[in-house]
Amino acid sequence: MTAYRHKKSLGQHFLHDPGYLASIVAAIRPEADDLMVEIGPGQGALTRPLLAKLRHLQVVEIDRDLVAHLSQAFPPERLTIHRADALRFDFGSLGAALRVVGNLPYNISSPLLFHLADYANEIKDLHFMLQKEVVDRMAAAPDTPDYGRLSVMLQARFQVAKLFNVPPGAFNPPPKVDSAVVRLVPLPVEAIPYRDAGRFAEIVARAFGQRRKTLRNTLRGLIEPEQFEVLGIDPQRRGETLSVDEFSRLANH
Ligand code: SAM
Repeated sequence: MTAYRHKKSLGQHFLHDPGYLASIVAAIRPEADDLMVEIGPGQGALTRPLLAKLRHLQVVEIDRDLVAHLSQAFPPERLTIHRADALRFDFGSLGAALRVVGNLPYNISSPLLFHLADYANEIKDLHFMLQKEVVDRMAAAPDTPDYGRLSVMLQARFQVAKLFNVPPGAFNPPPKVDSAVVRLVPLPVEAIPYRDAGRFAEIVARAFGQRRKTLRNTLRGLIEPEQFEVLGIDPQRRGETLSVDEFSRLANH
């Protein structure tokens, strides 16, 4: 594609380093008959090596110019192109055991992860390139500086594994931040620790809304002091010290 002007507003940084592209495809391990969707295929840097392994691939791309390019570059019987906003796309419409991959637009990564979490039951796994700082937050353990709402909400629903870092030079144009590849595998339904997703989300949001405050303060009105005692959780602790299981115990009480 010649003289393409990158659209900064769409987070367009195209991968060009063959070594990193090969490492990402090796991490995904595509099998010929996988049902796979790539979010934000761009100029097809990842699409091409994926299609070398897959019989068929679906993509969701918002940019009209890139959609036109992709439809010329790949035959429709190999590549189904959805010109759509991934934040509004119905991933459930693609079928079960869906594999989701993508070098994501970093400016929408958190809302996109929350949107995809809604389809966790239909999804087999997800492999994403994201801003390294976001991946560190996703995979963080309790009582570490990166641990927060994103860590708890994702780890309650997925097994989260950071795979490797990718430097800015692997992209064109290079982003200002380091990147990393992450794998998410939905937990089986019986392993989800909370009973009511809305209640769990509310407790987690309240506990991290004011990070420096104790649970007694942030959860006032939701959990009474004597209930903390029954659950064996000290109300003087701060939310950032609680494990996903402890948050679930509070939400399930
Ligand atoms: N996968 C390509 C690569 O690695 O070279 C491009 C990655 S680039 C970081 C992100 C891509 O996501 C761009 O192609 C951009 O147009 C697309 N994009 C941005 N916002 C989107 C949205 N809301 N829905 C779908 N695609 C989007």
